[in-house]
Amino acid sequence: MTIGVLALQGAFEEHMRMLHRLGADAFEIRKRGDLDRAFDGLILPGGESTVIGSLLRELQMMESLSEAVKNGLPVLGTCAGLILLAKEIEASEESYLGTMDISVVRNGYGRQLGSSEKRALFLGKEIEMRFIRAPYIKEAAATVSILATVDHKIVAAQQGNQLVTAFHPELTDDFTVHRHFLDIIRKSR
Ligand code: GLN
Repeated sequence: MTIGVLALQGAFEEHMRMLHRLGADAFEIRKRGDLDRAFDGLILPGGESTVIGSLLRELQMMESLSEAVKNGLPVLGTCAGLILLAKEIEASEESYLGTMDISVVRNGYGRQLGSSEKRALFLGKEIEMRFIRAPYIKEAAATVSILATVDHKIVAAQQGNQLVTAFHPELTDDFTVHRHFLDIIRKSR
């Protein structure tokens, strides 16, 4: 199985490392032509959603990626990646891929409360969650499954082929989220 990791900005290297440690093939998506390669899953990393969003437009990749996800390509969006997938972003007219029926709050814990670490349940298993200027999911459609909440805020969810976390699983040594993503890919094939 091969996974394309969007590598325009942000924490893509850490995802690459995680995938290699799990024995999955991964390559970096840096330009439109990279989308011609065959891949079974896509990762949208954390970083700055506004920056990644403008680069996706500039490089004319937004439409193709959005279509691919709508057509069932399994995708994992972490932090900024979650924002890119959301249909609605609070206090913003903008959306990016806009494929997932969630509305999100950017910098949901205030800019000062930049980073935190928590241990909480993800799909019933306690894992370490690292938050960096993280968003949270404020509303989710009935077809979205809530996989984790912290302090009454939704921080991980899944809608069919789309998996999102507000935290950064690639910055820990816990493989739970990535393993779950690989399972989604296996089931989709
Ligand atoms: N605050 C960032 C944004 O709005 C997300 C932070 C992150 O990806 N760690 O895009």
